[in-house]
Amino acid sequence: MTHKDLWNSIYSKLTQSLPTHAINTWFEPIVPIALTDNELVLEVPSQFFYEWIESHYMLSLSQTIQDVYNKDLKTRFIISAEKIKLNTATPGRHPTEKTNIQPVPALNKNYSFESFIEGPNNQFAKIAAETVAGDPGKNSFNPLIIYGGVGLGKTHLLHAIGNTIRLNSPSSNIVLATSERFTLDFVNSLRKNKTVEFAKHYRRSDVLLIDDIQFFRGKEQTQEQFFHTFNELYQSGKQIVLTADRFPGEMQGLQDRLLSRFQSGLSVDIQPPNFEMRVAILMDKAEQNGVDLSYDTIEFIATHVKSNVRDLEGIIIRLLAQSSLMNQDIDFNLVREVVRERIGKTAVTDLTVEDVVRRVSELSNISEKEIVGKSRKMEIAEARQVSMYLCRNIMGTSLNNIGVYFGGRDHTTVMHAVKTIDEKRVKNKRVGKIVTSLKQEFSFSLT
Ligand code: ADP
Ligand code: MG
Repeated sequence: MTHKDLWNSIYSKLTQSLPTHAINTWFEPIVPIALTDNELVLEVPSQFFYEWIESHYMLSLSQTIQDVYNKDLKTRFIISAEKIKLNTATPGRHPTEKTNIQPVPALNKNYSFESFIEGPNNQFAKIAAETVAGDPGKNSFNPLIIYGGVGLGKTHLLHAIGNTIRLNSPSSNIVLATSERFTLDFVNSLRKNKTVEFAKHYRRSDVLLIDDIQFFRGKEQTQEQFFHTFNELYQSGKQIVLTADRFPGEMQGLQDRLLSRFQSGLSVDIQPPNFEMRVAILMDKAEQNGVDLSYDTIEFIATHVKSNVRDLEGIIIRLLAQSSLMNQDIDFNLVREVVRERIGKTAVTDLTVEDVVRRVSELSNISEKEIVGKSRKMEIAEARQVSMYLCRNIMGTSLNNIGVYFGGRDHTTVMHAVKTIDEKRVKNKRVGKIVTSLKQEFSFSLT
């Protein structure tokens, strides 16, 4: 058996036991290098990668190896130097690109499908975008509408579609604009009596990409223009791709006839990234920017910065800036500081009473239901008081609100609970431990 055959069997076996996103993120990039009598050598893209596999998947991996190989075999990981080089060498990697293909104004070359990290939150949107890019105008996804919250990769996918089509068919006329640009172009054309030119520019496109159509809201005349452009392109089989901040059906201030046109195509959403995705994104962005981050650090950032990809990226850039400007090493304190500064406020609002109760429940082995319930049993009452204390202490939730949440108790009961735990956490080891560890976990809210 060669190392490749062996790895293929291991890989396919793993796909049966691990979730797809884990396979895609952590196993797909592994390259088998060699197989000796007692060792299988695997190449991984980075130190972090290795550490992650080591701490999360070693058991599954060695079990699977035993299953398919029937012989004692150690695994050794080596870290790919190649990969890092590839990433930093990206600009100018396609020398032919520059000479043969006309650049499309405003198309960001860095926004490609390759650089788009895929996870359960965006898989469907990415597949739809790739399909459209591979076969513009000739599929039933017309228009394709990608929608979701800020910083989740809508613009990235829109540009990736444009970039791909530009590479595949250099002669096709790709027109990209934000809805604001479209509006501005239209208004200017009115002022300068050039509405014909305006219409020509947009209606001559083979592929029309319009970013953030929610800004068409309330602009009747612009919508009218857009409607005609849309119809003309649609009828002649041209591809239209739009992005929006919400499901088109829920968009107010857009004409019904536009909304009904949108229904003839496909709307796909992008959701905020889950923890594994955030880790994968941080890894990738850190590597791209040449920032060396330890496993702990990445996990720490991924735990606290939850909102969107732009914020994750922002943290990496800020770390890079801070460390080079201040000539400071990127240590845990710096990371903490940067994270706190960037998202301190969001973290406070992100945290809910439910989060606190859930964590207390996990640490105390008392169910969430019991914690918010009526039981006076000692351990249960204590877990309840600890939860109340943490809500008050970390989030500053009002005594009344805490009381309401915990089974309709009045504010004096809550006050008593807070006082009790404040004393107990010093004297009682178990209480002290829970309080300290959860305070640390939620520490961003403590400033
Ligand atoms: P949106 O248009 O949804 O507000 P963007 O497309 O501007 O978000 O994304 C914000 C930043 O995050 C961009 O720099 C983009 O490259 C990056 N980004 C978003 N999603 C991903 C992803 N899945 N993989 C890699 N980078 C991403
Ligand atoms: Mg955008």
